[in-house]
Amino acid sequence: MNKKKGNLYIVTGPSGAGKGTVLGRVLAEMDNVFLSVSATTRQPREGEKHGVNYYFVTHDEFRQMIEQDRLLEHAEYVGNFYGTPAAPVDEMLNAGKDVVLEIEVQGALIVKGKRPDATLIFIVPPSFDVLASRLRSRGTESEEVVQRRLMKARSECAQMDAYDYIVINDQLDDAVHDLSSIIRAGRCRRGSVALNLFD
Ligand code: ADP
Ligand code: 5GP
Repeated sequence: MNKKKGNLYIVTGPSGAGKGTVLGRVLAEMDNVFLSVSATTRQPREGEKHGVNYYFVTHDEFRQMIEQDRLLEHAEYVGNFYGTPAAPVDEMLNAGKDVVLEIEVQGALIVKGKRPDATLIFIVPPSFDVLASRLRSRGTESEEVVQRRLMKARSECAQMDAYDYIVINDQLDDAVHDLSSIIRAGRCRRGSVALNLFD
């Protein structure tokens, strides 16, 4: 039994919902899942590494990537640009790996337009108050940026209807289980397995 091409997943959620935390656990538990590394013009947070968390680029470099058609999608988010390098996504899908893009709503809808087979997953916190307290307790943004990200959360959540799955990140273990179950179920989809029982 051979694995065919991998499946493409897009994970979105307001800043502080726990996307990075949930995905980190899912990736540690599951084989053959590749998390796409985006390019961004945002400054690295403490501990973030170039090529691991993001490709941290200048505005000129980002513009060049767009001009050379090297991004599958890109969007502006709270004053910075973010984009998904196209080549690694296709390399990994063709190698039979599942690929996860952790990107915001505008980019998610662009990818869905280009790749209708992509599965869209929205991660939400149990409440707005929990979101605010998680974002503040993470301590990576100034209060001004926290406010802007919280404002953005309302419009992001308003687009949840475009998504295939909603994962509520209340208890971390449950959210990890939900997300990995969605990815596992995708592997059982007809079309995801090449079954040659009688060859
Ligand atoms: P995002 O990637 O969506 O911006 P993070 O993964 O950075 O969010 O999580 C934001 C903060 O919330 C982090 O400090 C993280 O440790 C915490 N967090 C994430 N998930 C949970 C959870 N289920 N319960 C409590 N705290 C959480
Ligand atoms: P952060 O600055 O917190 O790392 O990310 C801010 C937002 O940008 C998050 O919603 C994150 O999902 C999104 N993001 C990260 N990489 C990309 C990308 O390549 N494209 C798009 N459209 N959004 C991205």
